[in-house]
Amino acid sequence: MRRVLTLLFAVVLAGLVASPAAALVPATTIDDVVVSLQTDPVYNDPKAQNALTAAQADELRSQISTGGSAIFIAVLPEAARSSNSTEDVVRYLQQNVGEPGTYAAIVGNQFRSTSQSAATNAFQTQQGNGVYAVLSQFVTNVETIDSGGTVTTPSGSQSTESGSALVPLLVLGGLAAGAGGLVLVGKRRRDKANAMSLAAVKSTVDEDITAFGESLDSVDSSAINTEENRADWMAALDQYDKAKRSSEAMKTPAEAATVTEALDEGRFRVACVQARLSGEPVPDRRPPCFFDARHGLSVKDVQYTPAGTAQPRDVPACAACSAVIEDGLDPDVRLVAASSGGRQPYWQAGPEYSGYASGYYRGNGMDLFSTVLVGTMLGNMMMGGMYGGGWGGADGGGSDFGGDFGGGDFGGGFGGGDFGGGGDFGGW
Ligand SMILES: [Zn+2]
Repeated sequence: MRRVLTLLFAVVLAGLVASPAAALVPATTIDDVVVSLQTDPVYNDPKAQNALTAAQADELRSQISTGGSAIFIAVLPEAARSSNSTEDVVRYLQQNVGEPGTYAAIVGNQFRSTSQSAATNAFQTQQGNGVYAVLSQFVTNVETIDSGGTVTTPSGSQSTESGSALVPLLVLGGLAAGAGGLVLVGKRRRDKANAMSLAAVKSTVDEDITAFGESLDSVDSSAINTEENRADWMAALDQYDKAKRSSEAMKTPAEAATVTEALDEGRFRVACVQARLSGEPVPDRRPPCFFDARHGLSVKDVQYTPAGTAQPRDVPACAACSAVIEDGLDPDVRLVAASSGGRQPYWQAGPEYSGYASGYYRGNGMDLFSTVLVGTMLGNMMMGGMYGGGWGGADGGGSDFGGDFGGGDFGGGFGGGDFGGGGDFGGW
């Protein structure tokens, strides 16, 4: 029943967005993209003709965070350009995001970047493999250039040193002085930010592991006397070990999903063990409490409007949190270290918590992620996955770049190519 409701909700929501009622949703503007890029290196508009899937966008984020180069990528619909050129869009993002680094945008069918050689090479070598392949190659190329390597451009010229391709663009951005130094400072800042994100998410999952360890300690394992219960108990201990090993091995915040999947499975097994020991029926397989996964398995759904959203939705709640909600009070929400500083509910704290939440709410074929988190920062990140290419209009799948490559259109220091075919930016 719950899955049916979830599906219905998704369908209703998708219908709203795809229909003229979408006019009720505030238009996206280029400044929304700027704000998003300040905390998340990949902006993937699901309305874009060449939108990535949510999984591809996550892969790209992970690649960027692992590599350590400061890279900002926006995939936008044709409408984002308004009467401007794609170069204008890239320049606007570069000037307003306020971080040194390499900027790239795919607007409609045009790909442009502040790194001419990285973008042109990526487009030329990967165009046939789809948008994701082009962008992934582009990230690799920028990292190669940043670390002093070379990337060949179609004209045969090479970029041999860090920042050389950026110089004309930094001039455009009004940052002429010490361009190479700025790039290095940017990389160091980005490395530091990535390390802080990883540490914050790792500390969050470690608190969850500790809480799960305590719930294991509370079980009187000497009383386990059936094969069935012994099997669940062993599985719970295995998941505890798996969670600890996965946390120790974490190299990116996205890998928190492996830890929280193990904890989710482990908690269910423990709940089964405890139920049998108390002579009660085993519980339904349900996700953990939305308010704080450390509360354990949820027992029912309650109506709740998360901070940062306007819309109530059903969220899974443990018995204690359900009682609090039914009394009209606010439950204790899990607060975590936010990328903007301070502590925030995990769904508003930053894109780095996406793996953490997806391990809990995407498992066991339930995929509640987009429904329980709709309208939150994490939920908005996943919009591309919900609507896929269906929003983009008639000209087909997101990975099918129609049209000709390039057309000699690499001027102005921007690299890239056309996948298909001045004034203020409008909304779209
Ligand atoms: Zn709870």
